[in-house]
Amino acid sequence: MTRLVAGNWKMNGSLAANRELLRSLSAVSGVEMVICAPFPYLAQLQKRPEGLALGAQDVSEFEEGAYTGEVSAAMLAEFGCSYVIVGHSERRALFGEGDALVGRKAVAVLAHGMVPVVCVGETLAEREAGEVMSVIGRQLGAVFDVLGRASMRKVVVAYEPVWAIGTGRSASVEQVAAVHGDIRAWLEANGIAGDEVRILYGGSLKPENAAALFAVPNVDGGLIGGASLIGEDFMAICRAAADAV
Ligand code: PEP
Repeated sequence: MTRLVAGNWKMNGSLAANRELLRSLSAVSGVEMVICAPFPYLAQLQKRPEGLALGAQDVSEFEEGAYTGEVSAAMLAEFGCSYVIVGHSERRALFGEGDALVGRKAVAVLAHGMVPVVCVGETLAEREAGEVMSVIGRQLGAVFDVLGRASMRKVVVAYEPVWAIGTGRSASVEQVAAVHGDIRAWLEANGIAGDEVRILYGGSLKPENAAALFAVPNVDGGLIGGASLIGEDFMAICRAAADAV
Protein backbone atom coordinates (compact mmCIF):
# COMPACT_ATOMS: atom_id res chain seq x y z
CA MET A 1 0.00 0.00 0.00
CA THR A 2 1.24 3.48 -0.79
CA ARG A 3 1.80 5.31 2.47
CA LEU A 4 -0.33 8.34 3.20
CA VAL A 5 0.98 11.38 5.06
CA ALA A 6 -1.64 13.93 6.04
CA GLY A 7 -0.83 17.31 7.55
CA ASN A 8 -3.42 18.60 9.99
CA TRP A 9 -2.91 22.34 10.18
CA LYS A 10 -5.55 22.61 12.93
CA MET A 11 -6.65 26.22 13.61
CA ASN A 12 -3.43 27.75 12.34
CA GLY A 13 -2.42 29.83 9.37
CA SER A 14 -3.20 33.03 7.52
CA LEU A 15 -3.34 33.80 3.83
CA ALA A 16 0.25 35.03 3.93
CA ALA A 17 1.60 32.24 6.13
CA ASN A 18 -0.10 29.58 4.03
CA ARG A 19 1.36 31.04 0.85
CA GLU A 20 4.81 30.82 2.40
CA LEU A 21 4.28 27.27 3.65
CA LEU A 22 2.94 26.06 0.31
CA ARG A 23 6.04 27.40 -1.39
CA SER A 24 8.13 24.91 0.57
CA LEU A 25 6.00 21.85 -0.31
CA SER A 26 6.21 19.58 -3.31
CA ALA A 27 5.09 16.07 -4.15
CA VAL A 28 7.33 13.22 -3.03
CA SER A 29 7.09 10.19 -5.25
CA GLY A 30 5.95 7.00 -3.61
CA VAL A 31 3.86 8.68 -0.94
CA GLU A 32 0.40 10.25 -0.98
CA MET A 33 0.43 13.70 0.60
CA VAL A 34 -2.61 15.53 1.94
CA ILE A 35 -3.07 18.95 3.49
CA CYS A 36 -6.02 19.25 5.88
CA ALA A 37 -6.57 22.98 6.11
CA PRO A 38 -9.07 25.11 8.05
CA PHE A 39 -12.32 25.60 6.11
CA PRO A 40 -11.75 29.24 5.02
CA TYR A 41 -8.45 28.32 3.40
CA LEU A 42 -9.82 25.55 1.20
CA ALA A 43 -10.42 28.20 -1.45
CA GLN A 44 -6.82 29.40 -1.27
CA LEU A 45 -5.62 25.81 -1.52
CA GLN A 46 -7.37 25.29 -4.82
CA LYS A 47 -3.97 26.40 -6.03
CA ARG A 48 -1.36 24.18 -4.41
CA PRO A 49 1.69 22.20 -5.43
CA GLU A 50 0.81 19.52 -7.95
CA GLY A 51 0.35 16.06 -6.48
CA LEU A 52 -0.81 17.24 -3.06
CA ALA A 53 -4.35 16.29 -2.13
CA LEU A 54 -6.68 18.47 -0.12
CA GLY A 55 -8.49 17.52 3.06
CA ALA A 56 -10.68 19.03 5.76
CA GLN A 57 -10.47 18.63 9.52
CA ASP A 58 -14.15 18.09 10.26
CA VAL A 59 -17.55 18.02 8.58
CA SER A 60 -21.21 18.28 9.45
CA GLU A 61 -23.23 15.11 9.77
CA PHE A 62 -26.08 16.94 8.01
CA GLU A 63 -26.63 17.32 4.27
CA GLU A 64 -27.77 20.95 4.17
CA GLY A 65 -30.13 23.43 5.75
CA ALA A 66 -30.59 25.34 8.97
CA TYR A 67 -27.42 24.30 10.78
CA THR A 68 -25.67 27.59 11.50
CA GLY A 69 -21.91 27.31 11.53
CA GLU A 70 -21.77 23.85 9.99
CA VAL A 71 -19.97 22.90 6.78
CA SER A 72 -21.39 20.09 4.67
CA ALA A 73 -19.61 17.24 2.95
CA ALA A 74 -20.99 18.46 -0.39
CA MET A 75 -19.25 21.81 0.17
CA LEU A 76 -15.96 20.10 0.96
CA ALA A 77 -16.24 17.93 -2.13
CA GLU A 78 -16.99 21.00 -4.25
CA PHE A 79 -13.75 22.57 -3.06
CA GLY A 80 -11.80 19.49 -4.11
CA CYS A 81 -11.32 17.78 -0.77
CA SER A 82 -10.64 14.09 -1.08
CA TYR A 83 -10.06 13.37 2.63
CA VAL A 84 -11.87 14.50 5.76
CA ILE A 85 -10.67 13.90 9.31
CA VAL A 86 -13.47 12.69 11.58
CA GLY A 87 -13.32 12.09 15.31
CA HIS A 88 -10.05 13.86 16.00
CA SER A 89 -9.40 13.68 19.73
CA GLU A 90 -9.64 17.47 19.99
CA ARG A 91 -13.17 17.31 18.55
CA ARG A 92 -14.03 14.48 20.93
CA ALA A 93 -12.53 16.12 24.04
CA LEU A 94 -13.19 19.83 23.45
CA PHE A 95 -16.44 19.71 21.47
CA GLY A 96 -18.11 16.68 22.99
CA GLU A 97 -18.19 14.52 19.86
CA GLY A 98 -19.17 10.96 20.64
CA ASP A 99 -18.59 7.70 18.81
CA ALA A 100 -22.00 7.65 17.14
CA LEU A 101 -21.62 11.18 15.76
CA VAL A 102 -18.18 10.29 14.39
CA GLY A 103 -19.83 7.36 12.60
CA ARG A 104 -22.50 9.60 11.06
CA LYS A 105 -19.85 12.05 9.89
CA ALA A 106 -17.98 9.20 8.21
CA VAL A 107 -21.22 8.28 6.42
CA ALA A 108 -21.60 11.88 5.17
CA VAL A 109 -18.00 11.96 3.91
CA LEU A 110 -18.34 8.69 1.98
CA ALA A 111 -21.68 9.75 0.52
CA HIS A 112 -19.83 12.55 -1.24
CA GLY A 113 -17.03 10.40 -2.58
CA MET A 114 -14.37 11.43 -0.09
CA VAL A 115 -12.34 9.32 2.33
CA PRO A 116 -12.94 9.65 6.08
CA VAL A 117 -9.79 9.59 8.17
CA VAL A 118 -11.23 8.08 11.33
CA CYS A 119 -9.19 9.02 14.40
CA VAL A 120 -9.07 6.67 17.35
CA GLY A 121 -6.90 6.51 20.43
CA GLU A 122 -6.80 6.29 24.17
CA THR A 123 -6.12 8.84 26.89
CA LEU A 124 -3.26 8.31 29.31
CA ALA A 125 -5.70 7.27 32.04
CA GLU A 126 -7.24 4.69 29.72
CA ARG A 127 -3.79 3.35 28.82
CA GLU A 128 -2.83 3.09 32.48
CA ALA A 129 -6.07 1.25 33.17
CA GLY A 130 -5.24 -1.31 30.46
CA GLU A 131 -8.14 -0.17 28.29
CA VAL A 132 -6.32 0.72 25.07
CA MET A 133 -7.94 -1.83 22.81
CA SER A 134 -11.34 -1.75 24.46
CA VAL A 135 -11.49 2.01 23.81
CA ILE A 136 -10.27 1.69 20.23
CA GLY A 137 -12.55 -1.28 19.55
CA ARG A 138 -15.50 0.78 20.79
CA GLN A 139 -14.50 3.77 18.63
CA LEU A 140 -13.99 1.64 15.51
CA GLY A 141 -17.07 -0.43 16.23
CA ALA A 142 -19.30 2.65 16.24
CA VAL A 143 -18.09 3.56 12.77
CA PHE A 144 -18.34 -0.02 11.51
CA ASP A 145 -21.91 -0.26 12.83
CA VAL A 146 -23.13 2.55 10.59
CA LEU A 147 -20.86 1.95 7.58
CA GLY A 148 -20.94 -1.81 7.30
CA ARG A 149 -18.05 -3.84 5.95
CA ALA A 150 -18.07 -2.67 2.34
CA SER A 151 -17.84 1.01 3.27
CA MET A 152 -15.47 0.40 6.16
CA ARG A 153 -13.01 -0.82 3.54
CA LYS A 154 -12.92 2.73 2.14
CA VAL A 155 -11.79 4.52 5.31
CA VAL A 156 -8.37 5.37 6.62
CA VAL A 157 -7.83 4.75 10.33
CA ALA A 158 -5.53 7.06 12.30
CA TYR A 159 -4.26 5.80 15.64
CA GLU A 160 -3.55 8.86 17.73
CA PRO A 161 -2.88 8.26 21.41
CA VAL A 162 -4.29 11.38 23.06
CA TRP A 163 -1.30 11.69 25.39
CA ALA A 164 1.06 11.87 22.41
CA ILE A 165 -0.74 14.63 20.49
CA GLY A 166 1.00 17.97 20.63
CA THR A 167 3.07 16.91 23.63
CA GLY A 168 6.38 16.23 21.90
CA ARG A 169 6.17 12.76 23.39
CA SER A 170 5.49 10.22 20.65
CA ALA A 171 4.39 6.69 21.44
CA SER A 172 7.34 4.29 21.34
CA VAL A 173 7.97 1.98 18.43
CA GLU A 174 6.91 -0.95 20.64
CA GLN A 175 3.66 0.75 21.69
CA VAL A 176 2.84 1.66 18.10
CA ALA A 177 3.65 -1.85 16.88
CA ALA A 178 1.37 -3.38 19.50
CA VAL A 179 -1.63 -1.10 18.88
CA HIS A 180 -1.35 -1.11 15.08
CA GLY A 181 -1.13 -4.90 15.18
CA ASP A 182 -4.24 -5.01 17.37
CA ILE A 183 -6.12 -2.62 15.06
CA ARG A 184 -5.15 -4.76 12.07
CA ALA A 185 -6.37 -7.85 13.90
CA TRP A 186 -9.64 -6.05 14.76
CA LEU A 187 -10.17 -5.16 11.10
CA GLU A 188 -9.37 -8.69 9.96
CA ALA A 189 -11.71 -10.14 12.55
CA ASN A 190 -14.38 -7.97 10.95
CA GLY A 191 -13.66 -9.24 7.47
CA ILE A 192 -11.34 -6.47 6.25
CA ALA A 193 -8.11 -7.80 4.78
CA GLY A 194 -4.69 -6.43 5.70
CA ASP A 195 -4.16 -4.53 2.46
CA GLU A 196 -7.57 -2.84 2.38
CA VAL A 197 -7.40 -0.15 5.07
CA ARG A 198 -4.45 2.07 5.85
CA ILE A 199 -3.62 2.65 9.50
CA LEU A 200 -1.81 5.95 10.14
CA TYR A 201 0.06 6.84 13.29
CA GLY A 202 -0.29 10.34 14.74
CA GLY A 203 1.13 11.97 17.84
CA SER A 204 4.31 14.04 17.89
CA LEU A 205 5.54 12.48 14.67
CA LYS A 206 8.49 14.53 13.47
CA PRO A 207 11.54 14.16 11.22
CA GLU A 208 13.60 12.68 14.07
CA ASN A 209 11.27 9.74 14.72
CA ALA A 210 9.58 9.35 11.33
CA ALA A 211 11.85 6.67 9.86
CA ALA A 212 11.61 4.48 12.96
CA LEU A 213 7.82 4.81 13.16
CA PHE A 214 7.23 4.20 9.44
CA ALA A 215 9.33 1.04 9.67
CA VAL A 216 6.86 -0.47 12.15
CA PRO A 217 4.63 -3.16 10.62
CA ASN A 218 1.07 -1.94 9.93
CA VAL A 219 2.08 1.72 10.01
CA ASP A 220 0.81 2.85 6.62
CA GLY A 221 1.48 6.53 7.04
CA GLY A 222 1.11 9.40 9.44
CA LEU A 223 -1.20 12.16 10.59
CA ILE A 224 0.98 15.14 11.38
CA GLY A 225 -0.03 18.14 13.47
CA GLY A 226 2.66 20.56 14.60
CA ALA A 227 5.35 19.41 12.17
CA SER A 228 3.03 19.94 9.20
CA LEU A 229 3.27 23.70 9.79
CA ILE A 230 6.99 23.64 9.10
CA GLY A 231 7.54 22.98 5.41
CA GLU A 232 10.92 21.32 5.66
CA ASP A 233 9.78 19.09 8.53
CA PHE A 234 6.67 17.96 6.66
CA MET A 235 8.77 17.26 3.58
CA ALA A 236 11.30 15.28 5.62
CA ILE A 237 8.49 13.19 7.12
CA CYS A 238 7.06 12.52 3.65
CA ARG A 239 10.47 11.46 2.37
CA ALA A 240 10.86 9.13 5.36
CA ALA A 241 7.47 7.59 4.51
CA ALA A 242 8.51 7.08 0.90
CA ASP A 243 11.83 5.53 1.90
CA ALA A 244 10.45 3.14 4.52
CA VAL A 245 10.20 -0.44 3.29
C1 PEP B 1 -2.77 15.66 15.41
O1 PEP B 1 -3.33 16.60 15.96
O2 PEP B 1 -3.40 14.94 14.62
C2 PEP B 1 -1.35 15.41 15.73
C3 PEP B 1 -0.85 14.25 15.45
O3 PEP B 1 -0.67 16.45 16.31
P1 PEP B 1 0.91 16.51 16.63
O4 PEP B 1 1.63 15.92 15.43
O5 PEP B 1 1.20 17.94 16.83
O6 PEP B 1 1.13 15.67 17.85
